[in-house]
Amino acid sequence: MHLLQKHLCMLAISLAVVSSGNAATLVEPTLHIQPDATGAGRVALTLDACGGQTDNRILSALVENKIPATIFVTGIWLKRNAAAVEIMRAHPDLFELENHGGHHVPAVDTPQKIYGIRSAGSPDAVLAEVESGAAALARTGEPAPKWFRGATAEYSPSAIAMIRKLGFKIAGFSINGDGGSLLGARETTRRIAAARDGDVIIAHINQPTHAAGEGVVQGLLALKEKGLTFVRLDDADGIGNHGTTD
Ligand SMILES: [Zn+2]
Repeated sequence: MHLLQKHLCMLAISLAVVSSGNAATLVEPTLHIQPDATGAGRVALTLDACGGQTDNRILSALVENKIPATIFVTGIWLKRNAAAVEIMRAHPDLFELENHGGHHVPAVDTPQKIYGIRSAGSPDAVLAEVESGAAALARTGEPAPKWFRGATAEYSPSAIAMIRKLGFKIAGFSINGDGGSLLGARETTRRIAAARDGDVIIAHINQPTHAAGEGVVQGLLALKEKGLTFVRLDDADGIGNHGTTD
């Protein structure tokens, strides 16, 4: 083979490796809490504040009905939603703030797109995302976060191992309440109202214009009506798969 041909051939092979060989197989971990065999059951409500604004329908309903929740906040959201942060900090019995990353970048250490969002793409970028999220929370005066949930809630297994080494548990879920805040109110209500003892619900508190937010409120009120109680992740033993909590 001529030298030039050989060179072009090698170039083609290495390009193919870059474009397809590096994408990691991602996992979407589940999380449950210890069931409460003695009562009507208990569930953990987790709400993501990815970016954007605050859904005050949900925030007011939580305060009025004394429903505790674990809120996963990003550095971006904290900067733009000082009033909501004040309300949460004024009710430490209700709200636990945890780490959703500095910039809402998926905790995946290979370059790829997840739901159209570009991943962190390298181990260093995953570290930066996790640590900048924790630093942003520290600036609010809140206790240091113990849980992390990455943007899109999908991870490369190697990123999970890194985040665990930083001392965070990783918050999966067992009920996708609002389908990324894109579901209608009725379907969101149905999904959340179907939660059972030990479930961990995920929904969003940053999309005030979406119909899903109304469904979050209705679903939670239905659970309360049935006698279920709500706990935050710090107040329950969370059990996740894919090495996220053990
Ligand atoms: Zn998010």
